[in-house]
Amino acid sequence: MNIILLGPPGAGKGTQAGFLVKERDMIQLSTGDMLREAKSSGTEMGKRVAAIMDRGELVTDEIVIGLIRERLEGDKKGGFIFDGFPRTLAQADALSELLASMGETLDAAIELQVNDEVLVGRIVGRAEEARKAGLPVRADDNEESLKIRLMEYYKKTSPLIGYYYAKGQLRGVDGLGQMDAVKADIARILDK
Ligand code: AMP
Repeated sequence: MNIILLGPPGAGKGTQAGFLVKERDMIQLSTGDMLREAKSSGTEMGKRVAAIMDRGELVTDEIVIGLIRERLEGDKKGGFIFDGFPRTLAQADALSELLASMGETLDAAIELQVNDEVLVGRIVGRAEEARKAGLPVRADDNEESLKIRLMEYYKKTSPLIGYYYAKGQLRGVDGLGQMDAVKADIARILDK
């Protein structure tokens, strides 16, 4: 089973992907995590994307498609969770070609639906909690980057909702509920 978790920054994609990895032996492919790793280990690519990520803009399609292509060659286990990918229509087309070339299909694009005020609160809260706990704060978890991340989402990623709806693959869940309620809604979709 292969799924996409769709939704704006702070919608809870990473949290829900974490549950699915633990409970269903799925593989989380988060391009954000991969890029942050490249950035902190100081690879050439990491250096190229650092400033773009900190500003909250999207990195090029070529880079993220390349990252996903590499990971798809590995073990499939319980299937892939695409978390934070695709984020543009070009990425969505590339993903569908990559999966087809492996004889795989996409089972669902699950949209975590939230409202913008909640998002801003969650992200600012996430940064504050990390600060209190002495943990590293994401360089893009500040109000200025957040505005750009939201704008990038609405301009470039939100058209994917219509794209997957038209393909008959879109499933919506209420992302405003408690973590466990969201998790149960996702489980219902996967177990259908
Ligand atoms: P995330 O952790 O998913 O919020 O991603 C953090 C940042 O990494 C984004 O704001 C972008 O700069 C970059 N990024 C992650 N995934 C993608 C993607 N699929 N396409 C373009 N940029 C991405």
